[in-house]
Amino acid sequence: MPAIATRSFRVQVALAFGALIAIAVVGLSLAGSDVLTRQVQKRVAFSLSMVAGNVARTLASELFNGSVQVQQMAGLQALWSDGLASPRVSQMLALSRATSPDSAWIGVADLDGVVRAATDGVLVGQRVGDRPWFVAGRSAQVVGDVHPAQLLASVLPPSASGEPLRFVDFAAPVLVGQQVVGVLGIHGSIDALVNAIAQLLPANAAERQIEVFVFNRDGALVFGPGGKLAPYAALGQTAPLALAAAAGEPQLAVVTWADGQAHLTAQTRVPARSPVSDLGWQVAVREPVHLAFQEVHQATRLALGVGGLVAVLGAVLAWWLAGRVSRNLSFIVRAARDVEAGKHGAQIPLLHSSRELQSLSTSLNRMTRRLLSANQEMEATVRQRTAELQAANIKLGRLAQTDPLTRLYNRRGLAAVYRTTRAVALRSGRPLALAMLDIDHFKRINDQHGHDAGDAVLVALAQLIQQRVRQADVVARFGGEEFVVLLPDTDLAGAEALGQLLVSAVAAQPLSSVGAVTVSVGVAEVGGDATDLSALLQRADAALYRAKGKGRNQTSR
Ligand code: GH3
Ligand code: MG
Ligand code: MG
Repeated sequence: MPAIATRSFRVQVALAFGALIAIAVVGLSLAGSDVLTRQVQKRVAFSLSMVAGNVARTLASELFNGSVQVQQMAGLQALWSDGLASPRVSQMLALSRATSPDSAWIGVADLDGVVRAATDGVLVGQRVGDRPWFVAGRSAQVVGDVHPAQLLASVLPPSASGEPLRFVDFAAPVLVGQQVVGVLGIHGSIDALVNAIAQLLPANAAERQIEVFVFNRDGALVFGPGGKLAPYAALGQTAPLALAAAAGEPQLAVVTWADGQAHLTAQTRVPARSPVSDLGWQVAVREPVHLAFQEVHQATRLALGVGGLVAVLGAVLAWWLAGRVSRNLSFIVRAARDVEAGKHGAQIPLLHSSRELQSLSTSLNRMTRRLLSANQEMEATVRQRTAELQAANIKLGRLAQTDPLTRLYNRRGLAAVYRTTRAVALRSGRPLALAMLDIDHFKRINDQHGHDAGDAVLVALAQLIQQRVRQADVVARFGGEEFVVLLPDTDLAGAEALGQLLVSAVAAQPLSSVGAVTVSVGVAEVGGDATDLSALLQRADAALYRAKGKGRNQTSR
């Protein structure tokens, strides 16, 4: 993953905003979920506790009513005075059962343990002498804990849940005078309790999977919702919460039951209304945790979903806004590059999308204008200085090739001109000649008239030569009082003729104040082994020497 600093400005802003919103949403959702969880727990706890309390009180009443009923019937002396099997007894048993539908069976046995009368005549004549209710009921009023039916299982219809028939027994000794003559027994059906409990559950109990369990004094399961008794008993399910002995109010906790499921569980004791009806039962009401907090989870998921969407939208919005800023900045960057590259007319654009950009672009624009104009001024100055320097160079070059006294070419100037002139002559095949001119007895002139007068003669002679040669001829002062004339397009004879012309012209015209002056001329032509300047000059010099030898004031070849 690339470092954050290498990402574009807009991506950085979008990521920051998205992350910020996501963090805020997750934080708020978790906090909200926590608050909601507490509220729901409170509400569920309240409803489960209420159900547990109601079921416990109902069970207490059922047990108490059963014990009172059996006690009252057994104490009706007049009923039993005609014997245990009289028609009045049978009518009374039938009536009693009709008014108390929870009773599955009401019957009376004599002291030998033989049933003498019973509802619907069930078990009449059979022996129940070893049944616990009979054994205990001979001496005192009893309420027997839940147990499976033994004899009645085969003669009574099966229970609604399909589980074995189970009863709570109520029994009391039947008295005539002070004499115990038999035992009255009532078998209260557990199914009847099931129906009673069902009335106490909230309307949405099935949807919420609210279930009621009853445990006996030893913590063993004696009652569970339809079909669950046997499996839970097999799992070894005991009372899930250990209640303090004095606990009156239902207690509540999240408990993992023997089936491995976590349930919010409210548990309470059945409040016995008499010592006889106190079986030490406990009621536990439970609701699965996942269902209890379902709405919390749904709300949290919704909050997270909406929050995620908001985070994405926020990031997109931030991306868009940052894009506007970075687009404007990139205008400036592009313009700055153009300025840097020296593109003609390039300048920083003025931007107005925000105050900061406006001031930034204005400042940059002014700065680049100032830099550009400073640059232009500098370039103009450099151009001017360069031109001046070039002019000075040219002048210097010309000076280096010019004789200061006569303004003619000097030796160096002659050499330069000769190079091009000879190249043209060689190329065109035209002749090229040269005349060397020397003032006769110049030393004397200097001696007689002074050095300045000698200089004046040199200047006057230079003018004269210039006037007499062709435009294309080149005149140079070669040494003290020697001149050289380079003659393009001229052969040796032509050069000799020109030499003679000059000799005559000088001799004919007095030069300045010194009077008549003569000159001698030696000529030479390019050709044979003499093509470079020094060889040509040597030849001309030799010719000049000959002219001097022949008496001066003449031309020689
Ligand atoms: P010749 O006829 O044999 O040429 O004799 P000359 O006297 O002309 O020759 P020489 O070489 O003996 O003397 C040349 C003289 O030219 C010597 C020098 O004083 C003079 N001279 C050389 N350059 C200048 C100059 O620039 N100005 C002046 N006034 N005189 C110069
Ligand atoms: Mg000389
Ligand atoms: Mg001379």
